[in-house]
Amino acid sequence: MSDKKPIPFLDLKAQQARIASDLRRRLDTVLEHCQFILGPEVRELEAELARFCGAKHCVSVSSGTDALQIAMMAEDIGRGDAVFLPAFTYTATAEVPLLLGATPVFVDVDPRTFQIDPAHLTQRIEEVRAAGKLRPRAIVGVDLFGQPADWPALVDIARRNDLFLLDDLAQSFGASLHGKMLGSQADATATSFFPSKPLGAYGDGGALFTESEERADLFRSLRTHGEGKTRYEVLRTGMNGRLDSIQAAVLLAKLAVFPEELRARERIARTYDQRLGNAVTTPKRVPDSTSAWAIYAILLPDEAARDRTQAALRADGVPTAIYYPRPLHRQPAYSAQHDGAALPVSEDLATRILALPIHPDLTDEDVERICTAVLATV
Ligand SMILES: *Cc1c(COP(=O)(O)O)cnc(C)c1O
Repeated sequence: MSDKKPIPFLDLKAQQARIASDLRRRLDTVLEHCQFILGPEVRELEAELARFCGAKHCVSVSSGTDALQIAMMAEDIGRGDAVFLPAFTYTATAEVPLLLGATPVFVDVDPRTFQIDPAHLTQRIEEVRAAGKLRPRAIVGVDLFGQPADWPALVDIARRNDLFLLDDLAQSFGASLHGKMLGSQADATATSFFPSKPLGAYGDGGALFTESEERADLFRSLRTHGEGKTRYEVLRTGMNGRLDSIQAAVLLAKLAVFPEELRARERIARTYDQRLGNAVTTPKRVPDSTSAWAIYAILLPDEAARDRTQAALRADGVPTAIYYPRPLHRQPAYSAQHDGAALPVSEDLATRILALPIHPDLTDEDVERICTAVLATV
């Protein structure tokens, strides 16, 4: 066992110390006005977030999962509809179509960038059409681990097949592709402010982005029980999906330091690339993009090597995590929904992948210690 102090996988205390005075001031303001739900901080945050990612409309909501759900409810996605999504992602991406009665159709991912594979997506749409049981309705492109999916290809496939295109940006708010921030590539974009995401609140939170005013109005109605022009007119079945003012206040304080945090994450990722690239498989960059580096995942040769490396790092005070130990089509909750298509890349990644700590408060010494520890195990 190492006598060195363990490195935190995520250090929200160190981050809090950096923003303490702005955070206190903003929280005190909420405590003074007592408009706890959809208060002035929420409106300010929506304007700031839209400006940050260059989207026309931002509608804040209560979580990333609720953002996905509201986007799909606005499209009336339900029974008999096929929703195409990657098998290698967080559970919420598949859970939402199932909650609405639709069927997730799992698509494999690129073995080096881990993003949804457009060629396999096209093949899966053709398969579903040929089987004739489900109606192809929507694609959920997930920007996995901080990097962007192949949006030009996804937009093209969605257009050609007349499908609703939803961006699950939960892990990658702050990333860009071809010089443009993510947030306006798809028909709608959903993100999450879960505390461990690159931009995280102190509780649950999320946001929707869209270029369509009509869609933004629909999202606002759906997040407040389907309300109309007045609170007591109910136009449609909605949900309680609003954001708290306290969470908006936290997010405003964090947004002020977010660009420098993104730069710090990028610096750490570059060090990992350089120091570890010859010893393990480091993540391939999506061309002409920037990453929000929610997760930096390396690949080991096989499961035994991955488990050995993880155990050795733990003994050295270096925490790691496995995202994801199972692709979604292998989850007990979803396997019965799967049509049996082979998803070999997702299955292989689950056995070999390992996430290293990456957060803006890691010191150069921490990063060096992590690299040395990884190199000692392979
Ligand atoms: C975190 C996450 C979500 C869900 O966000 P919550 O705010 O936790 O509901 C959805 N999709 C992906 C890919 C995620 O990583």
